[in-house]
Amino acid sequence: MYRKIAARSNEMQQRPEKRYDRRNGTFKFVNRRDDITLDDDPATLRAEMSCGHAVSPESLTAWCQSLLDQGQYKFTCPALKDGGNQTCGKEWPYVEVRKMAVLTDSEQRHFEESMAALAAANFHEYKSVSIIVCEIITTSLIVPVSITVSSLINCT
Ligand SMILES: [Zn+2]
Repeated sequence: MYRKIAARSNEMQQRPEKRYDRRNGTFKFVNRRDDITLDDDPATLRAEMSCGHAVSPESLTAWCQSLLDQGQYKFTCPALKDGGNQTCGKEWPYVEVRKMAVLTDSEQRHFEESMAALAAANFHEYKSVSIIVCEIITTSLIVPVSITVSSLINCT
């Protein structure tokens, strides 16, 4: 057991930095600085997201991981635009993040599980709000209504 854990943490430490494959023609490579970290090391290959901002696999993975850590399961672009007065804010679909961040199998699993858990938590929040709305309406009308899923849909 102990050996297994030690081997795994060793593996994580030795993980090579993720890089784009220059030969992969499906990426649009750019020679600009990273719009997430503002890193401009010319040795790092960066690619353009659908919104036009430049990322590297490392910066994109770290940014999206930080969003998940904050309970956000929608991935939005943090790049500054209009001279730094506004953020881009464009939502990237997960498939784009998965590709552009070059997510490993274990990262994909972790991302997908986190997104599913956060989305489910949000759904329950929304449902409990609907129940409160229905109760107020039915009380004020003094109409006894049993709250079912279909009546919830009608109420909202
Ligand atoms: Zn953007």
